[in-house]
Amino acid sequence: MANEKLQPVRGTRDLIGEDFARHARVGAVARQVAALYGFEEWATPIVEDTRVFSRSLGETSDVVSKEMYTFQDRGGDSITLRPEGTAGVCRALVSNGLTQGNLPRKVFYAGPMFRYERPQKGRYRQFHQIGAEVLGAAEPLSDAEVIACGWHILTELGISDGTVLEINTLGDAQSRDAHRAALVAHLSAHREKLSPDSQVRLEKNPLRILDSKDEGDRALVADAPSIHDHLTPAARAHYDAVRRHLDVFAVPYRVNPRIVRGLDYYSHTAFEFVTDRLGAQGTVMAGGRYDGLVEEMGGPATPSVGWAAGMERLGMLLTDLPAAPRPVAVIPVGEEMEAIALSTIQALRRAGISAEIAYKGNLKRRMERANRLNARLAVILGDAEVARGVAQVKDLDGGGQQEVSLAALPDVLPGMLPESPAGG
Ligand code: ATP
Ligand code: MG
Repeated sequence: MANEKLQPVRGTRDLIGEDFARHARVGAVARQVAALYGFEEWATPIVEDTRVFSRSLGETSDVVSKEMYTFQDRGGDSITLRPEGTAGVCRALVSNGLTQGNLPRKVFYAGPMFRYERPQKGRYRQFHQIGAEVLGAAEPLSDAEVIACGWHILTELGISDGTVLEINTLGDAQSRDAHRAALVAHLSAHREKLSPDSQVRLEKNPLRILDSKDEGDRALVADAPSIHDHLTPAARAHYDAVRRHLDVFAVPYRVNPRIVRGLDYYSHTAFEFVTDRLGAQGTVMAGGRYDGLVEEMGGPATPSVGWAAGMERLGMLLTDLPAAPRPVAVIPVGEEMEAIALSTIQALRRAGISAEIAYKGNLKRRMERANRLNARLAVILGDAEVARGVAQVKDLDGGGQQEVSLAALPDVLPGMLPESPAGG
């Protein structure tokens, strides 16, 4: 049918009304808090050279092997809609020659990400992330500070109750080699009991078996060797220092030895903020240290740490959304009053007061429109009053009415608008 109604692409959503309000609140609060911690905001492109992600996430990762939106552009280049933000930020650090001097750099970003996943509650094909990265710092304090910033954002959003920070260490390369060998030895003895996916992982990426969601795998993993028994003294010192700093920052956490990352350039700290209020999609923020990633992008060794959080999942957890600001409705009585109404409304807007005027209609219609807009006050302009240089200001909640001089409206109205708007 030619005029078939078009639908949004599967797994994408329109953000309208309350959905947009939730999204905007998450972004605004995160931005504000990140600035308090000294993060500068970057916006990198949504499309990148496919290699940015195949190098950073690894060819065998779920994201690269199954979830990426990759296509050839008209020039024949392979480009990818970014599935996450960190790789682009690291690529940008290198492309812009920012790897020398003035490090560490603290970067905040927010924007859409794309993954070809099975859509469900809290899981979309276009979703949005906020993220924070400290680039060029190896000190455990940088791990703790970036985590504290994340916790501060959750607290400011009012969703830290019911959210828990789970933390682990992946150790350094030497700790991990020792752990991997012990793990492979242990799991090989039970190879046929592993899920088919994990049998493949045993060859390619045995650490990933530790965060398998398969019940049978989980049972086998429960008594597998732990990284904590294989940490070098340096790796243990880093881990202990991060937790000490978290205590001082008053960020509560629990240790979860099952948190792993499948790639070699991840090391030391790995963490997730999880909630039990979103069913299966319980991870709201995830991050860790990635000391080798900038090198993968062709830069010098640049130890870094950061996190990313799903804005949709954070937005779903919000309980008290601030009410939309309520406008002032300006109402001309009769056509001759329209010009004065228009100059009045512009004077209010220039004074920072949200003001609306109906495009047409008599007094009754315009009052109805004011109510539908949830206006707080109506400024009624009748010719007799305007001739005296005044307007009637009507309280649309309380019903009272008072005369205010036209020239004084921008100064007087703010005092008549409640500080924290009701309704909305
Ligand atoms: P999951 O285990 O839920 O698939 P992940 O390990 O793929 O998460 P990350 O790559 O660490 O997630 O991304 C960080 C955060 O981004 C997640 O904790 C989540 O809040 C959010 N996120 C990831 N994928 C999606 C998606 N498809 N839809 C909505 N949010 C997502
Ligand atoms: Mg995923």
